Amino acid sequence: MDLFEKCRAYTQAKEAMAMGVYPFFHTLTSGQDTVVTMQGRRTIMLGSNNYLGLTSDPRVKAAAIRAVEKYGSGCSGSRFLNGTLDLHVELEEDLASFLQKEAALIFSTGFQSNLSIISSIAGRGDYILSDSMNHASIVDGTRLSFAKTYKYRHNDMQDLERLLQNCAKDEKAGILIVTDGVFSMEGEICNLPEIVRLARRYGARILVDDAHAIGVLGERGRGTAEHFGLVDEVDLIMNTFSKTLASLGGCVVGPEDVIHYIKHTARPFIFSASIPPAQVAAAAKALHILEQEPERVRRLNQIAGMMKKRLSALPHVTLHDSGNEIVPIISILTGSETNTLIAAKELLDRGVYVNPVFPPAVAQDSCLLRTSYTATHTDEQLEEALAVIDQVFSTLADQASPR
Ligand code: PMP
Repeated sequence: MDLFEKCRAYTQAKEAMAMGVYPFFHTLTSGQDTVVTMQGRRTIMLGSNNYLGLTSDPRVKAAAIRAVEKYGSGCSGSRFLNGTLDLHVELEEDLASFLQKEAALIFSTGFQSNLSIISSIAGRGDYILSDSMNHASIVDGTRLSFAKTYKYRHNDMQDLERLLQNCAKDEKAGILIVTDGVFSMEGEICNLPEIVRLARRYGARILVDDAHAIGVLGERGRGTAEHFGLVDEVDLIMNTFSKTLASLGGCVVGPEDVIHYIKHTARPFIFSASIPPAQVAAAAKALHILEQEPERVRRLNQIAGMMKKRLSALPHVTLHDSGNEIVPIISILTGSETNTLIAAKELLDRGVYVNPVFPPAVAQDSCLLRTSYTATHTDEQLEEALAVIDQVFSTLADQASPR
């Protein structure tokens, strides 16, 4: 059989294009901001991870430009050899200090961070216990590792304990529990207090992916561990720079000896070129702004609370139940793929972009429209978006109801 046969048999995306509801790869001709130009039209952005609005901050942009002027456009090699700049080392020190851990290591992307951390620390003979809704980069990190991986049911602490009981019988094996801090599609927070209790009881280590929690949760934006007052109890925290830190890249923070080990054994890190100067400088500046302007974190939280209340009050909108916590990811249940495609298209036609979410990111017929918020969204922009969402869901409900 021709290897490429599967490519010709793949028609799903083309069918959506033919129907005029294809929701991906929309082109922006503006920067990433609360209002963007998408497909040539003014669009309110409710689908970005630019949580504190720093991608367009003049201080962040200036830092990136200065770094290009001084260091050029790329590092042309691995951190291991010719590719370590003073900028990399300084950002590692700043991240370790901000996240209150001994040491940090930075990577070129968030995805690469999870591949590196997990495949390095969980080796042959070890166990990884991973939440079933964890991000794809965690799943692929477990695939790269030679450890045995078991998924526990999403946020189900009894299921996690059952697996821990079995793994702990093998006294020679190390155990890693890995979870998203905030689950990226549904906006739920992991049950960190219980994970910490179980990890202690069964001698496991914890890795939290805080991609959607740094700059979002905790009084100073230090993430899930700060939110629960458990910074000392979490062994390793991973973060991306592509969200709150307005750049591209990622990091892990934790004990000095563990970071040292990852630095010298993680293949996706060692055999790949280092993160370019502009990206490091932008992330470093964004981190300083986060530290100096905690009011941004408070404004984001206030927006998230307000939007959760207002969206749940709309008559034809059903929100995914993410508990009582306030998180700037609020997802609307849309059920089937067709409903989701149509709703996303109707919203975009009226000038509001949201993220449509399909399997495998969610279960079959549990599709979502994920809305996410930025600290610099104005009240007027949010009111405008709410009116559009109300109008679109009311019209779709009218069309669906029997006459
Ligand atoms: N972890 C989580 C939870 C994420 O949501 C993402 C990105 N969507 C990543 C890791 C990967 O990060 P990046 O896009 O910066 O590579």
